[in-house]
Amino acid sequence: MSLPAPDAPLLPGDANSLVTGAVDAGRLSREEAERLGESLRDPRVLEVLLEGAFESKRRGKGDVVSVSRNIFIPLTNLCRDRCTYCTFAKQPDSPDAKTYTLGEVDELVRGGVATGCIEALFCLGDKPEVAYRSHRDWLAAQGWATTVDHLVEACRVAFEGGMLPHTNAGILSQEDMARLRPWNASMGLMLETTSQRLRGRGMPHFHAPDKDPAVRLRMHEEAGELAIPFTSGILIGIGENAEERVDSLLAIRDLHDRHGHIQEVIVQPFHPKPSTKMWAVSPLDDDEVVGWVALARLILGPDMNLQAPPNLAPAVLEMLARSGLNDWGGVSPVTIDFINPEAPWPALALLRERTEAAGQRLLERLPVYPEYILERPDFFDPQLRAALPRFANDEGFARQTQHQSMEESASCSNAFTEM
Ligand code: SF4
Repeated sequence: MSLPAPDAPLLPGDANSLVTGAVDAGRLSREEAERLGESLRDPRVLEVLLEGAFESKRRGKGDVVSVSRNIFIPLTNLCRDRCTYCTFAKQPDSPDAKTYTLGEVDELVRGGVATGCIEALFCLGDKPEVAYRSHRDWLAAQGWATTVDHLVEACRVAFEGGMLPHTNAGILSQEDMARLRPWNASMGLMLETTSQRLRGRGMPHFHAPDKDPAVRLRMHEEAGELAIPFTSGILIGIGENAEERVDSLLAIRDLHDRHGHIQEVIVQPFHPKPSTKMWAVSPLDDDEVVGWVALARLILGPDMNLQAPPNLAPAVLEMLARSGLNDWGGVSPVTIDFINPEAPWPALALLRERTEAAGQRLLERLPVYPEYILERPDFFDPQLRAALPRFANDEGFARQTQHQSMEESASCSNAFTEM
């Protein structure tokens, strides 16, 4: 087909041809994705995108939207990087600086098991021992040289305590990932962006060597070589443009084409925080967020697991649930979102209600997706593989727990009360 000139916005009819073609062919080309990305603020183009993305998702994932009941363990909030939008990282002398002992990890894990959680999400700052002597000394006092030594032990505690860890610890070497693999059902690193521009002076990643796109891409590649089910994603709204967003999604798609290991892709909107250098940046509006979720589906194809966090766009959950996503990510009945502490998790019962209002079914999953559990045993260390049947049902989703049954009977009785 012939499109309007590259600098002219797409007309709804052109968008419709591109989207219909992509739904049938499975994915968009770079040029098609860039054209749609430039035009998705047009409500008519957005509508076309949403319809196509929802159909693509239906073909690959049916009417299921999944969620992982988890606990969030910020093992340490010290970090050697200084991204200008971050409030997670603290200086060692801050009253809010915190590093968890193994005893504290064990206590959190007990709380998670008691509330039916399966996933222990370890999320922490990047290599703080490189920047802070006090942290090096603390690690040494425990008998460890690095944060990864600490992390391996913490994952062991969580696994032996009855949960399945998922680690996102920033940049890890291939050797580090190989040490963590026996204790982790999956691992992750947000690619965030392939934009080298954002590493420039005055830009958000100038003081963040671990945000160098080449370094992040290399870790994705090495995780693929190790056969680790891997979570990636893009962070949108930190100064990147539409072309860079498309490039980031295509980079993730290429990695998955090579290794088959990208188990999910997150589209995460940036929320500006007071007390950061980026406090005055306007957040993306909800339509734009939903539009990029839809475009991500059409770039990545019907079989990819696509996630958008429900606590970052709470006003448009039904719209999001019809935008092509098939996962809400981790939601915790125990711990807050330490990355976005201002954004509370929706209760699981409410999330179920809103998902069903969009005509979808909410199913609980493990920190690794059913297709890996059912079809790719080679993606797990033997001890992890042996543990999976304790948590997964025949479809590879989470076994029904006492907590799920209680929530469901509670929402049934509410429904009857309203009738
Ligand atoms: S690398 Fe992560 S934890 Fe560290 S400053 Fe950047 S966003 Fe914050």
